[in-house]
Amino acid sequence: MTICSFHPPLRTLMGPGPSDVSERVLQAMARPTVGHLDPSFIGMMDETKQLLQYVFQTKNELTFAVSAPGSAGMECCFANLVEPGDKVIVCQNGVFGGRMKENVERCGGIAVMVQDDWGHAVDPSKVEDALKANPDACLVAFVHAETSTGAQSDAKTLVELAHNHGCLTIVDSVTSLAGTPLKVDEWGIDAIYSGSQKCLSASPGLSPVSFNQHAADKIKRRTTKVQSWFLDLNLVMGYWGGEGKRAYHHTAPVNCLYGLHESLVIVQEEGLENSWDRHQRNHVALRDGLEQMGINFIVAKQDRLPQLNAVTIPEGVDDAAVRSRLLNDFDLEIGAGLGSLAGKVWRIGLMGHASSQKNVDFCLNSLRAVL
Ligand SMILES: *Cc1c(COP(=O)(O)O)cnc(C)c1O
Repeated sequence: MTICSFHPPLRTLMGPGPSDVSERVLQAMARPTVGHLDPSFIGMMDETKQLLQYVFQTKNELTFAVSAPGSAGMECCFANLVEPGDKVIVCQNGVFGGRMKENVERCGGIAVMVQDDWGHAVDPSKVEDALKANPDACLVAFVHAETSTGAQSDAKTLVELAHNHGCLTIVDSVTSLAGTPLKVDEWGIDAIYSGSQKCLSASPGLSPVSFNQHAADKIKRRTTKVQSWFLDLNLVMGYWGGEGKRAYHHTAPVNCLYGLHESLVIVQEEGLENSWDRHQRNHVALRDGLEQMGINFIVAKQDRLPQLNAVTIPEGVDDAAVRSRLLNDFDLEIGAGLGSLAGKVWRIGLMGHASSQKNVDFCLNSLRAVL
């Protein structure tokens, strides 16, 4: 049997990620591969760092893209910042907080869980209680934009609380970056990770991260080696940092980085604030259309993410049948429920390039036709 080239169908991606990748980004990724230590490539990496500093709204020197998807950015933060015996307050209001717990424990840390119902924001008063009850905690970790439920937490307040109790912060911004206001320096976030394939609309496979001086100092003070060789920041920085003299650590995913660079150039052209506004505008249009169809949101209005709309599946409707008809008849992907919300909700993404009035109309019309 001869296996032929793979040609994927042309879908519209309105799920929880990956989001639609624009033609410009795809074309950038098709440009010739150069060596990862080629001076031209190093120049592009420096620009990528500057552009990441812009989207994160930070001056942090330690800002770069981990060569792997968002989950690796998560591991990078925990592996470097958590030492055996460290106590970490982990806020959980969905799937990804649970993964943070796993990370803490695999690094030999102790996770103190603060639980909130799925679909709700993290409750700052519960976090404050946990901080008071655990004066020996050194880190607070939470998810800014819970993609599994569509709820947004108040990152600024949570970071302030953590600092008041002498803790550093690890923030998951995989779904929030470029989709919703996020100000790393102004809010004082110590360590943050994101992903290339959500509101940046680059291809999956890269995880932008940023660490401030307090986080870098904690890493320098470590008395044990970072348990992951690949994600050890001391080693990675010899590759991404160090003006001019870059040492081989691993081979960067060269073409994937062309794509991230282009996606960041696109955000810069639009303007970060305009991107946030566009996500909000299209969310409102989708919300109005869905509510007219009698489809309701699971998250209270003030905590809703504009880029991830979690809605209750109408009574008597077959979840899987609707999603497969959307895919087969309309080439439209929307997301299923995750974890305890499986079978109960749909997650409609309006992320990055996919957040457009055209897609809002397309999704509403397709859903109406199928239902
Ligand atoms: C998607 C996502 C991740 C994981 O990113 P991958 O690129 O799938 O590894 C982590 N946290 C949140 C909140 C996400 O939405």
